[in-house]
Amino acid sequence: MSRTAQSMVVRLPIYFLELDGQRLDQQSRICNWLYNHLLEKSLELKNKYIEMQDPEIARVLYTERGLRNLVPGLKKDHLFLKTVHSSPLKNSALRLSAAIKAHQQSRKKLRKGKKAGWPRFRSWKRSWFSLLFDEPGKGFRLEGQNLTISLGSGLDRKERKVTGVLQSSSPLKGKEIRNFRLVKQLEQFFAVFTVHVILPEQKEIKRLIALDPNHKNLAYGVDTENESVEIAAPSWLKKLDQRIDEIASKRDRCKRQSQKVHLESNKGDTVDKYYWKPSRRWAKLDELLEKLRRKRREQTKTFLYTVSQKLFKRYDLVAIGDYTPDGSGLSTKMRRAMNNQSLIARFKHTLSWVAQKSGKTFCEFDEKGTTRTCHQCAFTWPDGLCPSIRTWTCPSCQTEHIRDENSAQNGLQRVLRDLKLENLVPGSGPVSVMKRWAWCALPRGVQVLPQGQSSDSFTAPRNLNEDMIVFDQNRLSNFA
Ligand SMILES: [Zn+2]
Repeated sequence: MSRTAQSMVVRLPIYFLELDGQRLDQQSRICNWLYNHLLEKSLELKNKYIEMQDPEIARVLYTERGLRNLVPGLKKDHLFLKTVHSSPLKNSALRLSAAIKAHQQSRKKLRKGKKAGWPRFRSWKRSWFSLLFDEPGKGFRLEGQNLTISLGSGLDRKERKVTGVLQSSSPLKGKEIRNFRLVKQLEQFFAVFTVHVILPEQKEIKRLIALDPNHKNLAYGVDTENESVEIAAPSWLKKLDQRIDEIASKRDRCKRQSQKVHLESNKGDTVDKYYWKPSRRWAKLDELLEKLRRKRREQTKTFLYTVSQKLFKRYDLVAIGDYTPDGSGLSTKMRRAMNNQSLIARFKHTLSWVAQKSGKTFCEFDEKGTTRTCHQCAFTWPDGLCPSIRTWTCPSCQTEHIRDENSAQNGLQRVLRDLKLENLVPGSGPVSVMKRWAWCALPRGVQVLPQGQSSDSFTAPRNLNEDMIVFDQNRLSNFA
């Protein structure tokens, strides 16, 4: 098997001295100006093209590098452009060309998804224009935790630089940096790197587990070592979701379009372009909402990585059912079901990624009928099993079943059969579960508890205050 490379994105908080931060703001502002300036020019060109059908105009307006090629000329007329490094400057133009192309393709129905309109003027105050350095090592240099960014050379042709400190550089260790983007959100700078990772060769499969994803827990698994594992769902997520809903509804009761703000032209006079400014309360709640959503994303990410790493530490193959629970049923439960659905989708994504990085295997199996079928004698309930039934006795062979365990058993048998791995279990019959475990992912790692022999014995450990389960973001660096 050959080694393959995979690209991934690493996003790290970065800190600058106040003055350097202001200089970077200025860089971003100039890129934003260039974008708007080229957009104004593009509008003129578009109208001219409609009139004259000049292919030369089309070449500027509708090719990937058409607008970018105008930048050197603009530098002569607008000397302040020289104070920005050529990479982010060039990328402002490329970004606009890409937006125009998206609009063209959307108009011709060549593009899927949301309709892309003609690009709009950007307000720097509303969103910080990111600085993209798309060539490795050009315009940025990383030494330990220090990241040095080159600014333009200016009129005196002296090189100018600023240096920031990354919160951590370990997620970048052993990876090849392809490009770097500086962004600023809610007054915090982030360094976003696209990196290449060389993946290890795949290891032989000796131990495997089949997981049944579901509502009650994150997943229930049965392995080839005669053990079962119930992985607890993240209970803290429910509280965070409630808080997010609460803030969102508060925000939506405030005025979003409260004040009309006119944009200024580069000469400083008001032009006929404007945007709506939300009320202060709306903006404040919106900021809080964004912070909570980010917290949710980060905490679920850590949770899923913790569980996935624990699984691949123990198993060479992790298989999971392909069925995703749908949101049918009561509408009040709908949202929760959908949240759970996306959690399972993200879980699969994380499992696949951790498997690739550790040279192990991840796969999905066809889950159809695994719940309603007895894994011992293949007896099938014709109308399925009501979700409230957690344990049942097979009317045909009298085997007592724990609902989720039986599903996972069926999954395991399917995986062993499909991948021709039956030799992993003696006798090639169903695995009999001798030990049951409950896993609870905590910030310190996964807590493993012995589980009673019956299904209803599972409760989250009592001594844990659910509010206290907050994942430490720094631990993420160990995962990347
Ligand atoms: Zn049976």
